[in-house]
Amino acid sequence: MTASTPKPQVDTSKPHPARVYDFLLGGKDNYQVDQEVGEKLPAEAKAAARQNRAFMQRAAAWLARSGVDQFLDIGTGIPTEPNLHQIVQGINPKARIVYTDNDPIVLRHAEALLISSPEGVTDYIQADVREPEVILEHARTLLDFSRPIALSLIALLHFIPEDQDPYGITDTLVGALPAGSYLVLSHAASDLFPELSARVTAEYAKGGITLGFRTRDGVTRFFDGLDLVAPGVVTATKWFKDTEAPEDEDCGLYAGVARIG
Ligand code: SAH
Repeated sequence: MTASTPKPQVDTSKPHPARVYDFLLGGKDNYQVDQEVGEKLPAEAKAAARQNRAFMQRAAAWLARSGVDQFLDIGTGIPTEPNLHQIVQGINPKARIVYTDNDPIVLRHAEALLISSPEGVTDYIQADVREPEVILEHARTLLDFSRPIALSLIALLHFIPEDQDPYGITDTLVGALPAGSYLVLSHAASDLFPELSARVTAEYAKGGITLGFRTRDGVTRFFDGLDLVAPGVVTATKWFKDTEAPEDEDCGLYAGVARIG
């Protein structure tokens, strides 16, 4: 991004996932159309957003502590502190992070994602996960693909319904990464609180956003052929390592981390 980059066009006539999520997290970077969706969602949706963000923070910290120093984060969202780079560079200032989102509002706020530690690098590209090759081509200019990279698809894949090839997209991304890399993801569940999940899907659909919530098996399938790190695919609040357990509360999201062999 340079100073001459034109301001991205933000469509405020219909709700957008990044802005509804920002609303749920209590952020201010959302519009009336997004608030209207967010306010109709069951109260649990706010808890899910918070639980998801906390999972991202724990998983990113664990990866950085495990020695991973390169991160490719797709579906980054509107900056909400602490962002992934703040977590991992707090552990390893040399960490390099490439962020990606397809929503122009995230690009508009990307400056907050680009404040790297002097020793590390952060970068942002506006791109769609459904074009994984575009993302990989850009990431190759910043990350060293001969060394482990953590690929994070956190609360992203439930925006990719079956007919848009979510498993094929994930395979393409994972297939580009060297041994010792990791896949990190969280995903809204269709089978934990089915009534709530149906209500959420219906409210987003009214706003023109098609969701593809998945069962535990459907989420686990993203990790096929990889080595799931303990505790495996669990609800987001149950995923923690070497830290105190998060508060035990109902959670409608699955989460997991796997090593790419
Ligand atoms: N990963 C962040 C934000 C999750 S919200 C976190 O967990 O806190 C989901 C994000 O995915 C939104 O910012 C939305 O704009 C983005 N997104 C949805 N569909 C996308 C697509 N096809 N390509 C890239 N990003 C997408």
